[in-house]
Amino acid sequence: MSSYSREKPKGVGRRQFLQLSGGTTLAAAAATIGAPGIASAAISGRTNRAADLPASKGPRCVVVGGGASGATIAKYLKKENPDFDVVMVEPNALYMSCFLSNLWLDELIDLATLQHSFCDAARNGGYVWLQGKLIDLDREAKRAYTSEGYIDYQYVVLAPGIDYNYASIGVADPEMVVAMQQSFPAGFKPGSEHLSIKAKLDQFEGGVFLTTVPTGNYRCLPAPYERVCMIANYFQKNKISGKVLLLDPGEQPFAPKAPGFLAAFSELYGDIIDYQPSTMIQSVDPMAKTVTTEFDTIEFEDAAIYPRVRAAKLIEDLGLANPESPQMEADIDVYRYNVKGDTTCYVTGDCRPMPYSKSGNTANSEGHYVAKVIAAVEAGSDIDWVSPQTICYSMVNGEPEEAIYVKAKYDHDTFGFTDVELDNDRSAANGAATHEWGAGLYRDMF
Ligand SMILES: Cc1cc2nc3c(=O)[nH]c(=O)nc-3n(C[C@H](O)[C@H](O)[C@H](O)COP(=O)(O)OP(=O)(O)OC[C@H]3O[C@@H](n4cnc5c(N)ncnc54)[C@H](O)[C@@H]3O)c2cc1C
Repeated sequence: MSSYSREKPKGVGRRQFLQLSGGTTLAAAAATIGAPGIASAAISGRTNRAADLPASKGPRCVVVGGGASGATIAKYLKKENPDFDVVMVEPNALYMSCFLSNLWLDELIDLATLQHSFCDAARNGGYVWLQGKLIDLDREAKRAYTSEGYIDYQYVVLAPGIDYNYASIGVADPEMVVAMQQSFPAGFKPGSEHLSIKAKLDQFEGGVFLTTVPTGNYRCLPAPYERVCMIANYFQKNKISGKVLLLDPGEQPFAPKAPGFLAAFSELYGDIIDYQPSTMIQSVDPMAKTVTTEFDTIEFEDAAIYPRVRAAKLIEDLGLANPESPQMEADIDVYRYNVKGDTTCYVTGDCRPMPYSKSGNTANSEGHYVAKVIAAVEAGSDIDWVSPQTICYSMVNGEPEEAIYVKAKYDHDTFGFTDVELDNDRSAANGAATHEWGAGLYRDMF
């Protein structure tokens, strides 16, 4: 079993494992992470053309990725030190958030709530948005190669998020992988996947709508459980006679919120949600529309299938992944986020190796801290470690809107949860707070 895995060892109960996992990961990580080295990037795509940017007016920081992590860091680097010349490299034309997207599936918010302009974010934050993609990195020369030309930098932050690992659910043939991505997208990377799932729900004519929980430390641990509640609520409201099947390799939903989710499943959606815990997927046939578990082969009419996640392939391509990490997460100083031995290059957000919740609030609060770390390095000083903060509301009912809630920080030595606040009694107050929390996070990022 890996240090970052959510898979549990034999003979250890799931709750016990979740408690243990935070406590053992750091030691295991420290033991497996190898010595650093400023290796040249493994990929090519280099160009001799400089990106079309204004001349740098101060230490230049290139931030790769405009998600909860990158957008926060770009903004807060400027706040920490207005002399920084910050360039955020992000290929998407607009930001569309994953967080709150389950509410949109149930039409509790509109699509515009999820969408934000990178133009406005950059202008408000005093940085430059380059619409492009990082292709290669030369850390010795401190040059970032993008689809729009190269950028010389003093600091670079890599926050490219996640990719999916379809082989984890027995789908390895490229033709089948493409069929999975296009016909049954997971909806854990924003944009087209979310639009596709919403259209599926709107057109659903009954039968089994399949959803899944991955193994490992996947993006947003409570989100698959929140999603089935929102889909079930949508089916109820629109009198769609279908079942929402949730296959979960764990013995119960995400541990802190398990009582709240289980109560919602049985009290609100007993005739709609079919929750099957302790069920490991062995393979999926997207053509036949069947999923095979250890016990059974199940037919489905439509699906949103969430495989195991891994750090964005960019991290591995740049030679920055820890080869011991089953999710190919970055090999960084777990307190300072820099690539070991290189205080000019940082990796943040959902491709970090620490077993924190891969969530927007975590990435945002961590981003505040990483901006301070880089500002301190530039000033030749140091700062104390600050824990990220996970704040997570899960909407479980749509009529009336009711949510459950957990808030926690992380222990310095074990990275397990500390200072936990938990409310598993679904309430309208938590429902309203969900919207306020989302609005606050957008305000802080943009
Ligand atoms: C359905 C769902 C519900 C969720 N609910 C919650 C919730 O309630 N609360 C919560 O806190 N979190 C929630 N999350 C999790 C949260 O959305 C993510 O954890 C968070 O967005 C991760 O931020 P990130 O910046 O690491 O990655 P991302 O937001 O994925 O950003 C990565 C960015 O990098 C860019 N990129 C990738 N490669 C390159 C490259 N080569 N060059 C340049 N840019 C690149 C991508 O285009 C992308 O914009 C939810 C997620 C989902 C899917």
